[in-house]
Amino acid sequence: MRWEEQLSRAGWRITMPRRVVMRVLERAARPLSPQEIHARGRRLHRSLGLVSVYRALMVLERAGLVRRVHREDRCDGYVLASPGHHHLLVCRRCGRAVEFPGAEDLSGLIAQVERRTGFRVEDHLLQLVGLCGPCRDL
Ligand SMILES: [Zn+2]
Ligand SMILES: [Zn+2]
Repeated sequence: MRWEEQLSRAGWRITMPRRVVMRVLERAARPLSPQEIHARGRRLHRSLGLVSVYRALMVLERAGLVRRVHREDRCDGYVLASPGHHHLLVCRRCGRAVEFPGAEDLSGLIAQVERRTGFRVEDHLLQLVGLCGPCRDL
């Protein structure tokens, strides 16, 4: 399914900022911060504002089209998301982010956390950090 279809099925319109953000992320080799997306997006559409980029990212994330990547410098990045529940592997040297399917062997851990804390867990984000193949060989 094309992203435009996925977005409209989720009940959102296809606007210029959403289209530009998707085009920028489709060409990106690593997660990009909203500022980086804005800088690249302005080359495609000069009137693109930073606030529109933030809003577009929020909508695209809720529609499951982009995924937020936590970076240690507190400046979160965004990558395209494949459909379904995935987790992320992030290389701490080159910043490359790779998705892997959510193999849900977390249920034991989650049940334990619920027992200990009294929380009802509804969702989780999992991001593993390490070195990718090429960076390990450096
Ligand atoms: Zn790497
Ligand atoms: Zn999971």
